[in-house]
Amino acid sequence: MAARHGGPTTQDFEDVTYISTRGEALSLTFEDVLLNGLARDGGLYLPDVWPTLSAETIAGFAGKPFADVATEVILPFTQGSIDRATLHEMAADAYSRFDHPAVTPLVQIDRNRWVLELFHGPTLAFKDVAMQLLARLMDHALSKRGQRATIVGATSGDTGGAAVEAFRGSKRVDVIVLFPDGRVSDVQRRMMTTPTDANVHAVAIKGTFDDCQALVKAMFNDHAFRDRMSLSGVNSINWARIVAQVTYYFVAAAALGAPHRPMRFAVPTGNFGDILAGWVAKRMGLPIDQLVIASNANDILPRAHATGVYEMRSVVETSSPSMDIQISSNFERFLFEASGRDAGFIRGAMGALSQGGRFELGAAAKPFATEFGAVAADEALVAETIRRTRAATGYLLDPHTACGVAALEAASPQSASPGIVLSTAHPAKFPDAMEKITGVRPALPPRLSTLLDAPERFEVLDNDAAAVKAFVERAARPATAGAQ
Ligand SMILES: *Cc1c(COP(=O)(O)O)cnc(C)c1O
Repeated sequence: MAARHGGPTTQDFEDVTYISTRGEALSLTFEDVLLNGLARDGGLYLPDVWPTLSAETIAGFAGKPFADVATEVILPFTQGSIDRATLHEMAADAYSRFDHPAVTPLVQIDRNRWVLELFHGPTLAFKDVAMQLLARLMDHALSKRGQRATIVGATSGDTGGAAVEAFRGSKRVDVIVLFPDGRVSDVQRRMMTTPTDANVHAVAIKGTFDDCQALVKAMFNDHAFRDRMSLSGVNSINWARIVAQVTYYFVAAAALGAPHRPMRFAVPTGNFGDILAGWVAKRMGLPIDQLVIASNANDILPRAHATGVYEMRSVVETSSPSMDIQISSNFERFLFEASGRDAGFIRGAMGALSQGGRFELGAAAKPFATEFGAVAADEALVAETIRRTRAATGYLLDPHTACGVAALEAASPQSASPGIVLSTAHPAKFPDAMEKITGVRPALPPRLSTLLDAPERFEVLDNDAAAVKAFVERAARPATAGAQ
């Protein structure tokens, strides 16, 4: 392992290089991975060696400011690219925008269960935690290089708003977010369409989230276009986002007594980014008993967990739209590790998935079954969980978080270790769904009181790669503007 023990919170680490899950792209530094997103062979980047944190370091996290823990958790992944003081400055600035002093507070909802509230950032969903830091990391890397970038991202609802909020006003970055027309909540759409900054653009695509994601992939796979536009990705496949999300697993576990007792986590899952961060935390030395994948009715991961076959079906709409996904992109990173870093297996599996809609987990099936639990909550169970929790405690779970609570209860009803459910969104982000389930419309926090009246600005485009590319060409500033 790369870690040398230098006392609590001051470990030193070797430089890290990043390798692609498909084995056919160049190895890169953290900064290159940050700016590139997807590898040129279509794979995802991972560190070649996993850093570990000592038990002393982890114990020392209890009671520390969030930005301090974030610095120590993220630093080993950035060696060779960023120094500790610069990283700490960026983290402190990013997390000063959260409206709770703990940044990600824990709320107890039961004798041995807690909710980890990740929604205190500007757009009321957990994506702000990573995106606020990502924007600062990217601006830093681009100004060091005298470059600019065009970020194109697909969103099932929350990534788009988080990206717009994080990058609005950036001198070096233009942001274009594609969302499925009519399939995101009003609050989600308005978070993308009401900011007035000239460098942010929202585009409604006449299609599903998976269509939006395919359009983005097509742009990235056109290498000439990608280079001309300096395309960069901020979807959850961007490694820097995963790393930033590792932080709150350490923060929450240390607050409840880690590393001296193990924790259980349940994670509302879509693209597999957030729960992969939990798996990384475990890999880094955080004692985790159980990591439970919580799905809604779109249950591809629980099915794969039970059968060893990853098989797509059509997406159904639920009250937790940010999890209405069939292809969990980050699962590829876990598969790579679980298969013993077999890039040939990954290429074969991903080829079979895009051609026939399925693949067999093979040697990865067993590690998947032992390292994770997986539970799908249907709409009736989500509603029942929200009502029951509210009746027992007065606490209002959003539908995504409710999948997590239901999954934790089903996966380990009796366990003695503390159970932590990641709360990925504030209930006010989904007022229609909440009203239907509870009869009450949760109010937006006062700082968002103008959101529902502000004028909107967005483009509507067909699910057509040429039309979307033409829009990106018009919207993005020339590759050299402000950077020479
Ligand atoms: C994005 C999102 C998820 C899914 O997270 P992944 O990292 O894609 O698994 C869950 N809940 C909410 C509210 C989200 O915005």
